[in-house]
Amino acid sequence: AKQRGKGNWVRFTTDLEQPVYADARLGGDLRRALDAGEFRLLYQPIVDLRDRRVIGVEALVRWHHPQRGMIPPLEFIPAAERTGLIVPLGRFVLRETCRQAAAWLTEFGPDALEKVEPNVSVRQLHDPDFVADVRAALADSGLPAERLVLELTESAVLRGPRVSQVLHEVHDLGVRLALDDFGTGESSLSLLRAFPAAMVKLDKSFVDGIEVGRPGTPETDARQAVARAVRQLAGALGLEAVAEGIENEEQVRQLRRLGYTTGQGYHLGRPMEADRITELLAGQRRA
Ligand code: C2E
Ligand code: CA
Ligand code: CA
Ligand code: CA
Repeated sequence: AKQRGKGNWVRFTTDLEQPVYADARLGGDLRRALDAGEFRLLYQPIVDLRDRRVIGVEALVRWHHPQRGMIPPLEFIPAAERTGLIVPLGRFVLRETCRQAAAWLTEFGPDALEKVEPNVSVRQLHDPDFVADVRAALADSGLPAERLVLELTESAVLRGPRVSQVLHEVHDLGVRLALDDFGTGESSLSLLRAFPAAMVKLDKSFVDGIEVGRPGTPETDARQAVARAVRQLAGALGLEAVAEGIENEEQVRQLRRLGYTTGQGYHLGRPMEADRITELLAGQRRA
């Protein structure tokens, strides 16, 4: 049953009968939230699987809503994409990530952090100011371009001359591109040809069950085969391969056996506040 309370029905719901109205409301709320500074970034460590050092971080946005508390991105990113609010939100994510990364590099030196990785929606690439925004985020923060890696989820929309042009312009700035959730799209392989990618991120679904806790099961064998093939493909194309969603030590062991040297996941570090990353980097400097 729908809630038709006065003035607040369909608020935050995905009422299929009223998608436009719901989006309009949510779009307005997102705008207000952005202006009110309710979006914050968490950072998840990207780790060298051999020595467990943090070599980078992925930036993951959270909405700290005054009434609803912390809202995860999957509950507002799709609406932000539909309403176009992803453009200013994505600009905030990009600028804040660059600012924070530059601060870490200033505090801990150039060897402290190889890269920072904000997520970018394809929708942002259609914004005519996107390349200028990236350039400005780098210039204003002082972050060297080669430290910035933009994560793009592979999708058919990444094709097309306009998007390709934008990606090449970003690439020409010295910024690296990662194909996120690699292996889940319909067109992973042909996309790699058109896309100036520096790395692929093996999707969590291929890491789940990769460990030989269920040895010899067809499922496990198939996942290992995919993980191995992605690693080999990346190597052949001169790309880095990063494994995502690592939740236990046995997965680390299997991934290393399959040739992965870099990974991320709850087992290696959850998404955390910038202050916690600062502590991790301080600890690494002493180590
Ligand atoms: P993603 O880019 O694939 O990010 C990885 C997601 O997996 C994150 O969820 C992360 O918290 C979660 N994760 C990491 N390690 C593990 C693990 O070991 N186990 C499990 N079960 N999960 C793990 P999160 O932060 O909820 O983000 C979800 C998605 O929302 C992201 O998927 C990304 O597509 C999108 N997103 C997040 N932040 C942004 C952003 O600033 N801009 C855009 N456009 N999208 C974003
Ligand atoms: Ca990502
Ligand atoms: Ca991913
Ligand atoms: Ca994803």
